[in-house]
Amino acid sequence: MSLAELQRIEAERVIGSYARQPVEFVRGEGTLLWDAEGNEYLDFLCGISVTSLGHCHPAIVAAVREQAGRLMHTSNLFYTEPAMRLAERLSAGSLGGKVFFCNSGTEANEAALKLARKARRGGDIVVVEGAFHGRTYGSLSATPQEAKQAPFAPLVPGFRAVAPEPDALRAAVDERTAAVLLEPIQGESGVHVLSDELLMSAREACDEHGASLIFDEIQTGMGRTGTLWAYQRSGVVPDAMTVAKALGGGVPIGALITGKRLADVFAPGDHGSTFAGGPLVAAAALKALELTDDPALLARVEQLGVELRESLAALPHVVEVRGRGLMLACRLDVSAPEVAARALREQRLVLNATGPDTLRLLPPLTISDEQAREGMARLEEALAGG
Ligand SMILES: *Cc1c(COP(=O)(O)O)cnc(C)c1O
Repeated sequence: MSLAELQRIEAERVIGSYARQPVEFVRGEGTLLWDAEGNEYLDFLCGISVTSLGHCHPAIVAAVREQAGRLMHTSNLFYTEPAMRLAERLSAGSLGGKVFFCNSGTEANEAALKLARKARRGGDIVVVEGAFHGRTYGSLSATPQEAKQAPFAPLVPGFRAVAPEPDALRAAVDERTAAVLLEPIQGESGVHVLSDELLMSAREACDEHGASLIFDEIQTGMGRTGTLWAYQRSGVVPDAMTVAKALGGGVPIGALITGKRLADVFAPGDHGSTFAGGPLVAAAALKALELTDDPALLARVEQLGVELRESLAALPHVVEVRGRGLMLACRLDVSAPEVAARALREQRLVLNATGPDTLRLLPPLTISDEQAREGMARLEEALAGG
């Protein structure tokens, strides 16, 4: 089927909630993607930080193939080993409590919000301006962005957004607060790193008033910032965190991970999902986690991140570089959507614009030095072409 044919079907038959670039990808391997005409692309986006180990990582492909041929789904009415092993590994390697599985990022946040409110028997949720937590009603209510929220009012009550400042955050938390929910690095709003001071004041305010501190690590987790979880660098430990995106190495799985205090808040019947934690996705996630939780890989992400930040800062039209590890963005003095479109079309470099002046780069954690250099050279060309 030609691209024109796909576009015709989309226009006639697909609900228009996405603005797609005019490219059809048919194959991927590591950092590379190929379109239907056989053109090769460098992928500096990873499906928005999902294929963080590269496309079709052989060990993940093997795990999926093996599990698909054995058992794909039974529901949570029964036991399967991959989910239990994944829960053990996720919990032991982070907050030490318990895990609830789901199928996406927004669902992980829905679970976290329900958990926090049940733990407090109600209460407000405090979020930070510029946050993005997802598209379903609870997560959308936690996403204080007018354009995303306004058409869908009324939202879920009891959400308050504060400026990303320690004093504002402290002032917003009291004994009626169920939780503070935040991304250690805000992804969708353009890779804004929240300060350690802000995270610490959130921790202190929650401790003082008995509220839960929840980190949304859906984009920052799974090695993206140079540690397995972003909270590990800040030293601020949340009461729970949500993960998804790269967790499945390319297949859809999300999870809520609690610390000990929140581990036993849900009782049977409180929450659930038919697909959640199925053996197919759990087997993939177990392999992805095993591959990502590797000190050598994480050290390389950190080091390469430093190098890429320097390279980006030296490019024309780049006025600011933000981020950590391989979660990077640059602010431009030209149109970021136009640069991203030119990079894709003329340079065969995949990245995205999070706003009118911000380009985001989320290359695979497994990218080679040569591919990283080549990506920078292509981006320079795309920037120069404007
Ligand atoms: C992507 C993202 C979400 C939503 O995840 P979905 O899988 O698209 O529902 C939530 N929070 C953050 C920080 C994200 O980056």
